[in-house]
Amino acid sequence: MSFVSHLECSLTGERYPSGTVQTLSKAGKPLLVRYHLDQIADAFAKEDLQTRTGGVWRYAELLPVLHPHNRLDLGELVTPLVRIRENLLVKDEGRLPTGSFKARGLSVAVSMAKELGLTHLAMPTNGNAGAALAAYAMRAGIRATVFCPIDTPEVNVREIAMQGADVYRVDGLINDCGKIVHAGIDTVGWFDLSTLKEPYRIEGKKTMGFELAEQLEWTLPDAILYPTGGGTGLIGMWKAFAELEAMGWISDKRPRMYAVQAEGCAPIVRAYDAGDEFAEPWENAETVAAGIRVPAAIGDFLILRAVRESGGRALAVSDEAILACQREIARSDGLLLCPEGAATYAAYEKMTSTGELTPDDQVVLFNCATGLKYPMPAAPQTFDPNAPNAFEPFLS
Ligand SMILES: *Cc1c(COP(=O)(O)O)cnc(C)c1O
Repeated sequence: MSFVSHLECSLTGERYPSGTVQTLSKAGKPLLVRYHLDQIADAFAKEDLQTRTGGVWRYAELLPVLHPHNRLDLGELVTPLVRIRENLLVKDEGRLPTGSFKARGLSVAVSMAKELGLTHLAMPTNGNAGAALAAYAMRAGIRATVFCPIDTPEVNVREIAMQGADVYRVDGLINDCGKIVHAGIDTVGWFDLSTLKEPYRIEGKKTMGFELAEQLEWTLPDAILYPTGGGTGLIGMWKAFAELEAMGWISDKRPRMYAVQAEGCAPIVRAYDAGDEFAEPWENAETVAAGIRVPAAIGDFLILRAVRESGGRALAVSDEAILACQREIARSDGLLLCPEGAATYAAYEKMTSTGELTPDDQVVLFNCATGLKYPMPAAPQTFDPNAPNAFEPFLS
C-alpha cells in the first residue's frame, strides 16, 4: 500500500493528484510528494527497522511506490559512516550500486516509472546519474536515452553504454543536455527524468536523511556538508527530517546544512551571499568535481531555503583544495573520496580554520561516489629485481 496523500508545488503549495504521471507544477517548479504521516506513524515503528535489510526500501512506507513487485532492487544497502576524526564522519555513498548515491534517486524514480507504465526515459547527466538510470531502467525493462557533456569522464560514458542505455555526448554542459531532453518530450515522447523535474528522484535521495538519523540513534548531527549540484540530496534530507519529526521519531533539533560548491561553478553560493531567493545561471562553469558542475538548478530556491532555515550557509572551495584534500584523506585515512566528497572536507577545513565549525561539532560529510570512477595521479614506478641493489630504496 502507499501512504501518499498528494503532490504539492514546492513554490505555491498547489495540490496535484498522485498516481498519475506528473512533471513540474504549473508554476514550472518541482513537485514534492506529501504523505499521511500520522497514518505512517501508526503503521510503522522505529523498531520495525531492526528486522529489515536493504537500503532505500527499508523505508518503504515513506516512499511512493505502491506495489512491492515494482520495487527495483540491485542490492542497495545502508551506507557506512566512516569516522575520520573524533567528531567527523563521512557517509560513504560510493558503496551503493553503480558506485554513487544517484542509485537512491533512480531506484525509486525508475520503480515509479515502471508503476506508472512509462516506456522510454531520457536524462541529461554528468555521468553518475546516467549510470544509475541505465542500471535500473534495464532491470525494469524500460528504454533509456542519456545525454552527457562532451568532456564527461570516459569511464562514466562507457558504464552507461555497457549497462544498455543509449548514450550520446553533447558539445556543451549539463543544462545544454537538459534542453535536448526537453525538446524530445514532444517529438519523441520520452519522459524527462532530470532531477527535480519529476517528483520521485528526490524521494529516493531523502533516504540519506532517514539512514543518518537511524545510524545516529535518532539524533541528528550539528552540521552536514553536502556537495551541491542540483541539490536534490540536500533538499531531500531536509524533507526527510521534517517527516521524521512529524512522525515523532526525532526532536526538532536540526543540523546546520552547508551547501558546498566549487569556485568554478558556484551559483548557489553567489545567490546565498547576495541574499537572493533564486540563483542566476553560472557562466563558463568549470571544475574537476563533475558531479557539482551544475550551472543552473531548478530547485535553487529550495536549497537556499533549507540552508538558511538551518542556520548553515553556502560556500565554495577551489579545485586545488579539492585535489589536495582528496590526496590527504586517501593517505591519512585510507579512504578514497570522489572529488565532490573531497570538496566537503576542503570546506570543513576552511570552516574549522576560522572557528565557524569547532572540533566539538559533530559533522557529517557526504562522499557521494566511489573515488574509483575518477582519474587518479600517475604511478609510473617499475621494479627490476635483477638490477644491482634493487632493494636499496626500501632500506631507508
Ligand atoms: C550528482 C552528484 C552530486 C550532486 O548531487 P545533488 O544532490 O544533485 O546536488 C555530488 N557528487 C556526485 C559524485 C554526484 O554524482
